[in-house]
Amino acid sequence: MSLKLQQYIHGTWVNAKSGNTRDIINPFNQEVIATVPEGDEADAKAAIAAARAAFDNGEWSSTPATERGAIVRKIAELIERDKDELARLESLDTGKTVEESRGDMDDIAGVFRYYAEIADKDGGELIDSPVPNSTSRVVREPIGVCGQITPWNYPLLQASWKLAPALVTGNTLIMKPSEITPLTTIKVFELMEEAGVPAGVANLVLGAGNTVGAELSSNIDVDLISFTGGIVTGKKIMQAASVNVKKLALELGGKNPNIIFGDADFETAVDQALNGVFFHAGQICSAGTRLIVEESIHDAFVNALVERVKKFKLGSGFEENTQMGPLISAEHREKVEKYVETGIKEGATLAAGGSRPEDPELQNGFFYLPTIFTDCTTDMSIVQDEAFGPVITVEKFRAEEEAVKLANDSIYGLAGGVWTNDIVKAERCVAKMRMGTVWINEFNLYFPHAPWGGFKQSGIGRELGRLGMEEYTETKHIFQNLKPEPINWF
Ligand code: NAD
Repeated sequence: MSLKLQQYIHGTWVNAKSGNTRDIINPFNQEVIATVPEGDEADAKAAIAAARAAFDNGEWSSTPATERGAIVRKIAELIERDKDELARLESLDTGKTVEESRGDMDDIAGVFRYYAEIADKDGGELIDSPVPNSTSRVVREPIGVCGQITPWNYPLLQASWKLAPALVTGNTLIMKPSEITPLTTIKVFELMEEAGVPAGVANLVLGAGNTVGAELSSNIDVDLISFTGGIVTGKKIMQAASVNVKKLALELGGKNPNIIFGDADFETAVDQALNGVFFHAGQICSAGTRLIVEESIHDAFVNALVERVKKFKLGSGFEENTQMGPLISAEHREKVEKYVETGIKEGATLAAGGSRPEDPELQNGFFYLPTIFTDCTTDMSIVQDEAFGPVITVEKFRAEEEAVKLANDSIYGLAGGVWTNDIVKAERCVAKMRMGTVWINEFNLYFPHAPWGGFKQSGIGRELGRLGMEEYTETKHIFQNLKPEPINWF
């Protein structure tokens, strides 16, 4: 592979100071696909120092937004140029199908393009000053040095949501990708170098969460920490970030309800309910893993789901007819297995799946069958906890209010959906649903123009959209007295 397989600090490709390395494993067959440096606190400190110096010299933050936007646009073009290689790397690293990875790369280029386009549109805001003979205006400035930590499920997509807005607003940054899926992020740092991002502005450190991630979260030279990952880690980061009251952006988990009314288009709702949860083997923060189905269609709906999942084609992401790849790691599959055991103990009915596939060709990968639990209730931990795997729980409801109440019965509030042909009913429901994104007759759709993030314990702040850019700015009010004169109080 033509990848540098190093860290990128102050414009230089480097190994870990300790000399340590980590093997990157293909979850389809457990083969080692690459060996990368395993950085630690020392590497993180060097990268933070580089980003601090690059911010404090003021060159990048005072570069006109249009110029920064042009560099970010160039990154989008390079991602499009190298789309096939990037998609191949993402599929090798995560096990997802190449077709999905190619779609991810289009989305990622789209994120860089979106922020390049709006980079120079924020000229500040004039306020109608209540003070005579004065001007009052609000401008936005970069926050400074940003630490960015990403998970393994959408490695480069999640990175793009952080890199593009941080760059166009004039910040400097240190990115730490998930230690198990760093390859496409490394590649994009190569492309950022080619696009002309100056040395020190964007730095890449590879390594574990409790070393590199913890250093980024607690180092007082980091002004903002943007994290996407699990809720337990999010809480640790929030605590660590209090050391210097860092700005904080947290995109955490979800346990996303998908309400299906009896009057929804049956075939479409079944099909999309499956897409909503089993895409990428359920390893999606916004997966619609909690199906809440109206009693009148419940049994027919469950039967249709069960029939469909039995036919899923599991396999290599590089084979054309594969619909679902493996889970990311042996450890993660064990977590999903424990979750399913718990569901059985809690009295839910296993209607499909619930084990590893028997197909001999899949024995080297971390595969798990698509799994459906029925007879679920909100007091079960499988209805409350994130499985982050190919598992659906199905609850039944009779009345609209009950459906909304069930949907909101969660510590999370990332996303949710409603399926019905009665649009007034749909609007009534979504108005009461406590989630950052709600879909009507749709699930899991997003685009760079609309903000993404969670209510409740699904996070703090928003990514994407204009809000996702504002997260990377401080707001400054500038007041000017046009006719200064003594007050004569003292
Ligand atoms: P994770 O929390 O285990 O790890 C995420 C990242 O945090 C990794 O880079 C990891 O190395 C790092 N990390 C671990 N411990 C750390 C520490 N003490 N300090 C600093 N960094 C640390 O999550 P994961 O298993 O990689 O990803 C799955 C989770 O991510 C799920 O809960 C999922 O819902 C969530 N997620 C959320 C969104 C969203 O947009 N809300 C998107 C994708 C994934």
